[in-house]
This record gives sequence, C-alpha cells and structure tokens, in this order.
Amino acid sequence: MRIVSLASGSSGNCTVIVSEHTRLLIDAGLSRRRIIQRLEKILGLLPRIDAILVTHEHSDHISGVGQAARALQCPIYVSEGTAPFVEHMLMGREMVLTFRPGQGFHVRDLFIEPFRIPHDAAEPCGFVIEEESLFAHFNKRIAVATDLGTVTEGIRKRLLACDLVMLESNHDIEMLVNGWYPEDLKQRILSDVGHLSNDVAGQTFRYLAERGRLRTAVLMHLSKNNNYPKLALETVQEYLKGTDVTVAVAPRDRMSALFTV
Ligand SMILES: [Zn+2]
Ligand SMILES: [Zn+2]
Repeated sequence: MRIVSLASGSSGNCTVIVSEHTRLLIDAGLSRRRIIQRLEKILGLLPRIDAILVTHEHSDHISGVGQAARALQCPIYVSEGTAPFVEHMLMGREMVLTFRPGQGFHVRDLFIEPFRIPHDAAEPCGFVIEEESLFAHFNKRIAVATDLGTVTEGIRKRLLACDLVMLESNHDIEMLVNGWYPEDLKQRILSDVGHLSNDVAGQTFRYLAERGRLRTAVLMHLSKNNNYPKLALETVQEYLKGTDVTVAVAPRDRMSALFTV
C-alpha cells in the first residue's frame, strides 16, 4: 500500500491510501478543489477513488466530504452513530454506507476494521486497513487513529498488528498548559475524549515497536498553537531510541511524504 496525507490538523484532514486495486480517502476536511488538486498531483488527472471513510463528524474531517464524493463519484462510509451528522450536510445525491465499530468490511481488495476511539464526537472511529494477499500472514496493515483523548488497551492491541501507524501527536503538554487557550478548552484537549500529547504518542509507538510489527510511525493532527513539528518529531524519536522505526510528521497544510508498506 502507498499512503500520503494531503493535510493533517485542525484546519483540515485527508489521507489517501492506494493498494493494487483500491484507492481510499480517509476523511475529507479540505475543500473539494484542494482535495482534487492534491489528488491529481499524486494520481494524475481525473483520479479514481473507490470510497471515502469518515472518522467522525468534526468539520476539519468532513467539511469537503459531500462535494468530494460527488466530484469523485464514490460512496461515503460512516459509522451508524456518525451518519445523521454527515447526512445533515449532504445534498442527497451522495451514497452513504454505514458500518459498526468492531465489524469489518471490504472495499475491493482492502479489508477495513473500524474501531471505536475516545473523542468528543458521536461515534468516532479509527481504522485498521489490511491489503489481502495469497499469504494472509504477510498481509500488510496500516492504521489511522486521530483524534483521540487516550489510547485504550483495546486500541493498542489493534495497532500491534500494523506495519505503519498514523497516530495523533497533537500537543506538547507544557506548551498547552502554559499557553493562551482558555482553561475550559485546555481541559477539553487534555481530557480522555480530547487529543493525544506527543508523550502519549511516543509511549504508544514504543509499546508497538517492542511488541508489534511497527516499521513506520506517522505523527498526525499537530496543533498549530501547542506544538512544533520538530518538537513532536524529537519527542517521539526519543521514545523510539534503539528501535529501527522510522518517524515522520504529516504537515498541517501540505502533502506529506509518500509512505509505502
Ligand atoms: Zn480533528
Ligand atoms: Zn475531532
């Protein structure tokens, strides 16, 4: 599989995943124009996309989903709990398909396992995405988990089987606590249904590197005000010292590097 983040953070999220037969978007929180422009850079003119998977209904994840689905003529997959919030902003010409967290489904040759993540939205989900091959043991798996307030035991277990994990590394705790955000917003971000700190991301990646098959760690959804790419990268790299895991940051407002598993 090949993976590129088109943008990641509170101003918009969209990730492209391409396998031999399938092309997915995770979230569409950019304008249709920007999504198509960036897709054309990677996939050429009139890019074919098979489906858009939605993590949750916050606008930085869905603001462009209706227009993008119409332009790309592909269905939108949302959790049952998220569906009413997404349908509310659609024009009725899009195909909306629902899934339940914990129940996997196929999009062509990809097997998608949605799992529940703790965040202050209706039914937010992360995804493990597996490319099926003749030899199941060697199937490649990636995970996308953003936004989430905490990494539960159940989430850690799911991520153990993944070769590449795109995990939120939202804030540096000290920057957030000492910053200018109002107290209630700070508490929301720090809560179990808020966003992950660089330290928790680093600790999670360490756990996965020691016990699982992690090869590539991608830091997602960095805060504009409470983090720096260099700080997030160095904090997580410190946790991963002595391992051979590659760490990269998904930029807020431009495309990331191309990742391959
Ligand atoms: Zn978000
Ligand atoms: Zn959110």
